[in-house]
Amino acid sequence: MCGIVGYIGDKKASDILVDGLAKLEYRGYDSAGIAVFEDGKINIRKHKGRLDNLKESLKKNDVEGHVGIGHTRWATHGEPSDINSHPHASHNGKIVIVHNGIIENYIDLKEELVEKGYRFISDTDTEVAAHLIESLYNGDLLSTVKEATKKLVGFLCSSSNVQR
Ligand code: GLU
Repeated sequence: MCGIVGYIGDKKASDILVDGLAKLEYRGYDSAGIAVFEDGKINIRKHKGRLDNLKESLKKNDVEGHVGIGHTRWATHGEPSDINSHPHASHNGKIVIVHNGIIENYIDLKEELVEKGYRFISDTDTEVAAHLIESLYNGDLLSTVKEATKKLVGFLCSSSNVQR
């Protein structure tokens, strides 16, 4: 079990995301990370181990934007490590995702993407989805993500708790 949080608003996203991840700690996890959008760039901080490791890293090198996503990981593909922690970025860094669940056909998709020149950094199944979305991008994110999900086989763990 693991968790996902998202934030868009006028507060500092990293604070809200880390608070949200703290509320999900009871579900168990082996790593935690956030991605925050600021000035046209997406900054990622992610670490293996306790949420405190992420908090320490943010104390040294904070991220300032008002839009972001956060994740606690329970590894299924790839050992717990900083690199395998979520969020994962696509090749050009413009698509950044978090994911709970398993992509069962990730090896086939990975082979296709590697042939197209995509370079993988992590051992996770999730990274495939980031590159896949980039490879299919048609100028409209929502329709591209819908197209990408048609190619993904597997399941998502989900539970939601929207707070405003
Ligand atoms: N399968 C993904 C991974 O191993 C997500 C695991 C999770 O649900 O946290 O990174």
